[in-house]
Amino acid sequence: MKITIIGTGYVGLVTGACLAEIGNDVLCLDVDARKIAILEAGGVPIHEPGLEGVIARNRHAGRIRFTTDIEAAVAHGDIQFIAVGTPPDEDGSADLQYVLAAARNIGRTMSDFKVVVDKSTVPVGTAARVRDAIAAELRARGADVPFSVVSNPEFLKEGAAVEDFMRPDRIVLGCDDDANGRRALALMKQLYSPFNRNHERTMLMDVRSAEFTKYAANAMLATRISFMNELANLAERVGADIEAVRRGIGSDPRIGYSFLYAGCGYGGSCFPKDVQALVRTGDEHGHRLQILRAVEAVNDAQKQVLAQKITAHFGERLDDLSFAVWGLAFKPETDDMREAPSRVLVRALLQRGARVRAFDPVAVDEARRVFALDLTQEESARLDFCDSREAAADGADALVVLTEWKAFKSLDAADLKERLRRPVIFDGRNLYDPAVLAREGFDYFTIGRTHVD
Ligand code: NAD
Repeated sequence: MKITIIGTGYVGLVTGACLAEIGNDVLCLDVDARKIAILEAGGVPIHEPGLEGVIARNRHAGRIRFTTDIEAAVAHGDIQFIAVGTPPDEDGSADLQYVLAAARNIGRTMSDFKVVVDKSTVPVGTAARVRDAIAAELRARGADVPFSVVSNPEFLKEGAAVEDFMRPDRIVLGCDDDANGRRALALMKQLYSPFNRNHERTMLMDVRSAEFTKYAANAMLATRISFMNELANLAERVGADIEAVRRGIGSDPRIGYSFLYAGCGYGGSCFPKDVQALVRTGDEHGHRLQILRAVEAVNDAQKQVLAQKITAHFGERLDDLSFAVWGLAFKPETDDMREAPSRVLVRALLQRGARVRAFDPVAVDEARRVFALDLTQEESARLDFCDSREAAADGADALVVLTEWKAFKSLDAADLKERLRRPVIFDGRNLYDPAVLAREGFDYFTIGRTHVD
């Protein structure tokens, strides 16, 4: 099938690559000429495990191409996926300017039936706005071309995006129940049929429910994290171990083990903005979402918890102290720094006068870019990026762990002790065994595992 992908970010690029992999003819459009130039030259502008190989294979087979030519992109695909960003607006609601611009571009030049798919995470009612935007463009040029807007939210996880796309838990399709909607549904079912071989994963629903489902999923996951973080902070005060509690409750199949890890707060491009957007949707409809307000507030506070532990240990001013930071990306296996807890913690350390020696296996380039925006020049001068976790630790007064990269999970405590000036670890991901580190003579600060009377 002929597919156009509009927006070659984490979602668009993975969607395009995976749809090419199963045999479709894919053209990817982006307004960012830099990204398209990288892709055309055989590179990949983001870090996502396995993606480079899939793109290379399909480029050589001629099944995936990249362009900045809007007209060519609109002409190409019978199915047009809108996978552009939906960042938070000033009031927290989803900013739909990129989605609506993509819709207008389609309406401006389309000449035959199109299925327009909202792949971006968009608030309930957006498909109707996309439909209106396309219809207005068609009216403006006196054209009468049939189309239908489908909601097909994406549930992939960064860091495992290719795997998630190729083996989805479910494929949610929201279609209109009219002639064009049914025509669109038939094409979407054909497109996704290779993913349903083993068992039917497609869930059909009305458009608004499909749009809502994506926010409900992210809101639920964010709620589990904030819930555990709040309990972890209490566990410290009552002398309980949140890891034991996690195992104790996760074993209940009604609860399950996923998304119950306490840590230094959730980040990324989705949970923070999607929780905020759902809260705003509630406000717009006169329905105050109390749980999600608390989820957001708990997460904002959680991003400060490590800095509070650090100042409780070293004092409010951290001049002349140096901190090794392991992990900058908001989670492992990605270079994404959007809303990463590291941005809050590193700035807090620098603002108190500290030096920071940071290491991340893949996010250093992206970290350089975002910290240049976050920090003053004077603060930036005290931030060094290192080539290895060992180099970051050398001569530091303490180690701070912010991302649970696999490469950090096994620790040579004796070697680390020699490298650090003081045996102190602040672990935002609870990676290590407190008993082992205590035996090695470390002061080991965790999220919810240490008893602090
Ligand atoms: P991204 O910022 O990585 O990519 C968006 C891309 O769209 C950029 O390359 C940008 O240049 C391009 N773009 C903007 N306007 C355009 C236009 N008019 N025409 C063509 N290209 C345009 O974003 P992302 O992380 O891929 O997220 C995209 C959407 O998918 C968002 O709504 C997000 O909430 C949702 N989503 C993201 C994830 C994730 O893990 N990142 C998962 C599920 C859903």
